[in-house]
This record gives sequence, structure tokens and C-alpha cells, in this order.
Amino acid sequence: MHRFLKKCLNILYPRCCPVCHQILKNQEALICPECAINLKPYAGPRCMKCGKSVAAEAEYCSECSVRKRFFTEGRGIYFYDDRMKASLVRYKYYGRREYGDFYAAAICRYGKREIERWKPDLLIPVPLHPSKKRKRGFNQAQYLADRIGEFYGIPVSGCILRKKKKTKSQKKLDARQRYRNLQNAFEVTERLEGLRILVIDDVYTTGSTMDAAAACLLKAGAQRVYFLTVCMGNMG
Ligand SMILES: [Zn+2]
Ligand SMILES: [Zn+2]
Repeated sequence: MHRFLKKCLNILYPRCCPVCHQILKNQEALICPECAINLKPYAGPRCMKCGKSVAAEAEYCSECSVRKRFFTEGRGIYFYDDRMKASLVRYKYYGRREYGDFYAAAICRYGKREIERWKPDLLIPVPLHPSKKRKRGFNQAQYLADRIGEFYGIPVSGCILRKKKKTKSQKKLDARQRYRNLQNAFEVTERLEGLRILVIDDVYTTGSTMDAAAACLLKAGAQRVYFLTVCMGNMG
């Protein structure tokens, strides 16, 4: 029955490729064969802290070498290039939820070694402010965290970390303004004594959001905070 319903839904609302946005010929696939060949996860040298691309001899990116980070370690899977930007826009704002299945599968596959090494006790999606969530209809990070948690058998909580301050868009702010904008933006509703937390989000750019969230989780007793994101900015 479940399969039958899925087939009907696929006819009414055909699933599209998250990269070229064409209707998938194989409705069971998450990406079309051409894009599967062209879209590669980043495999070069990474910052030891945030995972951004760095020159071969560098240990840390320019941001992590000057700033103390609250998170222990993290990484993004793909570069946040124009095609991934377009993909995430359709996922977040134009109802292409199925793209989230592709992103979650990519994190499960290419973040496997990290998840095995970090051994998180709990997955937490970066929260949206309630008013923003209402407007968007869903939290894009929660959708990913739910699928990753299901795959690895790790519990997910979408309500322990909350966004309490409605922050301005970070896009046009510099590093210091971003930091100030996010101060006291998050709150944690429970003690997380000794837990290893893995935070999930769609994009990592300067790390100010991730850092503010990590600071808040540590204050609530978390032992370590890691992160995985679908994309990462490339100005390492
Ligand atoms: Zn495609
Ligand atoms: Zn870094």
C-alpha cells in the first residue's frame, strides 16, 4: 500500500533532480545520472576545525586561525556554488522537499567517517525562529536531521535548541556584526550534561551561526559540539 501510494504521488507530483531540476526518469532515484557524475563532494584539504577548503599546507582556514571556536569540529559536503545555491532555494522556498532526501543521503554517505569518529549521542537541527518557520512551513535543517538520525539510529531533537531572537539576515553583515546579531539568539530548554551533540544545517558560511549555537549547547552542559552541513562557503 505504501509503495502504491508513493507511485501515485510520483505521478501527481513527479520528483525532480536537485541539481538540473528536470523530472527524474527513475522516480526512485535521488539525482539524475548526469548530475550524479558532475556533482562531486569536496575531497581536497580541509580546515581542521570547520572543514572549509584550505591550501594543502594550511591547518586552519583564515577564520578559524584568528577566532576561538565553540564547536569542536565540523564539515560541509559540497561547495556552496551557484548550482547548489539554486538547489537550496528550491528546497527551502519552492516546495522541493525531495531535494532534502538527496542532501540527507549525501550527509549520511560522505559524513560517515566523521559520524563514526564523533559518536554523537544526539542530533540537533539549527532552529528557525517560530515566525520564520510558520512562513516557510518547515525547518529545512530538521528535515535533514530526521532522515540522518533515522539512518544511523541516533535520536533527533528539534525542540531542545530554540531560536528566541528574530535575527537580521546575516548576508550583508561583516564578521563582527554577525557575531553581535547572534548574541543571545539561541536558548536551550534542557540540560545536556556530558552529551556529544551533532548539529545539522543546510549551509555553513562564516560559522557565526554554528558557533553561537555551539556556545549555547556547551553552556547547557554538552561535552562536545560537532556539525555537518550540506554545503560550505569556499572562502577559506
Ligand atoms: Zn540532474
Ligand atoms: Zn576553519
